[in-house]
Amino acid sequence: MSERSATPEGGASPILRVQGLSKHFPLRRGLWGAGGGVVRAVDGVDLEVAAGETLGLVGESGCGKTTLGRMVLRLIEPSAGRIHFEGRDITSLAPSALRPLRRRMQIVFQDPQAALHPRMTVESAVGEPIRVHGLSDSEADLEARVGRLLERVGLRRDQRTRYPHELSGGQRQRVVIARALAVEPRFIVADEPVSALDVSIQAQIVNLLRDLQDELGLAYLFVAHDLSVVRWMSRRVAVMYLGKIVEQAPSDALYERPKHPYTRALLSAIPHVEPARRRVRLALTGDVPSPLAPPEGCRFHPRCPDSKPGLCDREVPALRTTEEGHSVACHLAD
Ligand code: ATP
Repeated sequence: MSERSATPEGGASPILRVQGLSKHFPLRRGLWGAGGGVVRAVDGVDLEVAAGETLGLVGESGCGKTTLGRMVLRLIEPSAGRIHFEGRDITSLAPSALRPLRRRMQIVFQDPQAALHPRMTVESAVGEPIRVHGLSDSEADLEARVGRLLERVGLRRDQRTRYPHELSGGQRQRVVIARALAVEPRFIVADEPVSALDVSIQAQIVNLLRDLQDELGLAYLFVAHDLSVVRWMSRRVAVMYLGKIVEQAPSDALYERPKHPYTRALLSAIPHVEPARRRVRLALTGDVPSPLAPPEGCRFHPRCPDSKPGLCDREVPALRTTEEGHSVACHLAD
């Protein structure tokens, strides 16, 4: 068994590659010396996203998904590790050198209400990044571009004069997506883009993101806390627990043959309509430990039904490849 990070299938050159990426937030000491310490939000993550593919990133609340998603775009500065975008090391690029690259990497947030200025019309919101990046040479061209973007995300051109409060949650998220597309990116971090929406609307937005990927060749890092949403979006999925990737695999392999006990527990929580596909529900015992003081050894061992004393509570399991494209960080897998 070799020890290497999981890479996109087929050897396509990655649009994004991160190695050993960590974010440790130091906490300030209180007046009487209380507190202090370091929150290990992300701890030594390796991952790759190929051009035009989706990597799903899944884990419970607080496991570090949002921090990782923002860090790969340099919206949060890493504490350690390297970020390569389109083959270029962008870890230490100065803001002025990063600015032109910002066009090519965008983010869609969970809450479209918070992402849109309440007093900006749809037209201003979608047109703003076009203006900022100087992508249009006339008002007529700008208007035409905004109109095309609105249609591309399933809105009508005449909705350009609306304000966010005049739109539904799903329509607002379409505006946010149009705004991200306005600068013609190659890579989008979609940070729980459907979690704040009604279940009936979620599938529409997921389908829109898929259609846009097919049409424009976009690559996504698709962040979610729920494995069921990620499946229909992602060719590969990475599962995160307390700041670390614990399993990474092509979607089918991860869903059909999960190797990490944490992934198995997450999968067993997905309700299945067909009785044949229902899994025995594996309850996760105990709370997620604090990233201020992560457990020794395997971070999952205090909640793991298979934990082996003397091994799992002492040694950190490396993320190792067990079969083509499938890697797992568990002493007991295979
Ligand atoms: P959620 O789904 O709830 O957003 P998440 O998996 O995206 O969770 P993060 O938001 O990345 O997780 O947070 C990871 C950990 O880092 C959490 O324990 C969080 O409290 C902590 N954290 C995030 N930002 C900071 C900060 N600026 N200072 C200190 N701790 C932070």
